[in-house]
Amino acid sequence: MPRIVPLDTLSGFELETDVLVCGFGGAGACATLEARATGAEVILLERASGGGGSTALSACEMYLGGSGGTRLQRELGIEDSSENFRAYLDECFGAHADPARVDTFVAGAAAHFDWMESLGVRYKRELYPEREVVCLTGASLQYTGNERAHPFSAISTPVPRGHLPADAGHDGGKVLMGVVMQRVAESGADIRTDSRAVALVQDRDGRVHGAIVRQAGREFAIRARRGVVLATGGFIMNEEMTRRHIPDIAELCTRHGNPGDQGDGILMGVSAGGNAIHMGQAFISVAHYPPARNTFGIFVNEQGQRFVNEDVYLARIGHYASVQTGMRFFMFTDEPHFGRPDYHQSTEIVAVGETVEEVEREAGLPEGSLQHTVAYYNAHAGNGADPLFHKAAEWLAPLHTPPFALIEYSLPILKPHCFTLGGLDTLPTGEVLTPERNVIPGLYAAGRNAAGIPRTGKGYASGMSVADATFFGRLAGRSAAGNTPA
Ligand SMILES: Cc1cc2nc3c(=O)[nH]c(=O)nc-3n(C[C@H](O)[C@H](O)[C@H](O)COP(=O)(O)OP(=O)(O)OC[C@H]3O[C@@H](n4cnc5c(N)ncnc54)[C@H](O)[C@@H]3O)c2cc1C
Repeated sequence: MPRIVPLDTLSGFELETDVLVCGFGGAGACATLEARATGAEVILLERASGGGGSTALSACEMYLGGSGGTRLQRELGIEDSSENFRAYLDECFGAHADPARVDTFVAGAAAHFDWMESLGVRYKRELYPEREVVCLTGASLQYTGNERAHPFSAISTPVPRGHLPADAGHDGGKVLMGVVMQRVAESGADIRTDSRAVALVQDRDGRVHGAIVRQAGREFAIRARRGVVLATGGFIMNEEMTRRHIPDIAELCTRHGNPGDQGDGILMGVSAGGNAIHMGQAFISVAHYPPARNTFGIFVNEQGQRFVNEDVYLARIGHYASVQTGMRFFMFTDEPHFGRPDYHQSTEIVAVGETVEEVEREAGLPEGSLQHTVAYYNAHAGNGADPLFHKAAEWLAPLHTPPFALIEYSLPILKPHCFTLGGLDTLPTGEVLTPERNVIPGLYAAGRNAAGIPRTGKGYASGMSVADATFFGRLAGRSAAGNTPA
């Protein structure tokens, strides 16, 4: 399907607006609100019959901090300097990060929380301090990533940064997007559902002038005087793109997203000359907790060797698991620390025994491998140390109480939830860049259409995607509205 229509071949535009936003999820909704706040006319297209996207399916946890702390952090007595927040994010994404983008986010993340509250999203002044994926007690602040784990704890003070809508648990997305979509409806934007953006209209100098929309089997053109914002989400539902960009996990993962995650915006942006980056990066969820006591166990690969500190965030486990031989790995544990992972009922107990040797033999691991790993681990865990991977002392205890068990978590069995992190290279303003990093006039992208703050599964923490989509969606909407009309 051609994703670009040259302006000079077009017979005319059926509709006209200042800013055309494609996609009514988190990024698109926030872009619309900001563009409308400047007084710009906005048409908002949504392929589905209603807005929300993956943002509404999510817990809408947002990873925010810096500036001394968000209002929620500060009111709970938690300080989070911008230097501390920045140091943590640098450790998360290292050379993958775009420093300009991280600077902008760190400087504005605390104020973004205020903006969400100003829209009417409610956050409860309560901290949930335990190790959890999504806090289910109704509290609005929790640790959501690797803050308390090595190497992050060595370079930044661990603070909780996961901001969850009050009393919502896994339904945070419905709650937050319910409020945000209501504000969009009140904003005067022209919302058109069942309307899929299928191509961009571009002139010979590269400026984008609008888009072609498919609605009820008919295609027509909408002119955007100031800019088009691409906010159509990621591409985890696109078979061909996932086979090409994340081939190792495409076949085995459970696709985590909404049916519209087809990469439309990324494909349109690339056709207009944009550069898609970090396309091979994905969030792979291996949640061995809750129950938190599973963190006392040790993960070993099919060589019987450890490969990660087990107290890290689930996507970091997923990342390291994905590079083990055959993506095979197991949790070894003992009687007091045994637990079935709440989120992965498909895990299988492959061996049980009164000795480590028995477990090793039953599981078919190389002779002596598991025995050696467990003996070494136990020798140090008893002293509160993990010389190999530096698991925090609170999760260290010798695994010496039979019966012992080996539980298989291998990715082909687990079929972990995955979503994509790659997208268009943009400036923090949302302006889409060519491979030479020149701006494509009139074209903006945000959310999972863009390569955002979270650029690797290894450094991902819960809340980074929604925080990024809504924060940079706002910037894209504001920039597009402020663009000089064509
Ligand atoms: C179950 C689940 C839980 C999650 N939990 C969290 C969490 O707690 N915190 C976090 O940070 N991340 C979480 N994520 C990830 C996060 O939700 C998404 O990465 C993020 O919300 C994407 O936002 P977006 O605005 O880019 O896309 P979306 O919110 O998906 O919005 C894109 C919209 O564009 C529409 N669209 C697609 N193509 C077109 C087109 N051609 N024309 C017009 N419209 C189009 C789609 O229908 C959709 O409505 C979770 C994801 C899932 C699936």
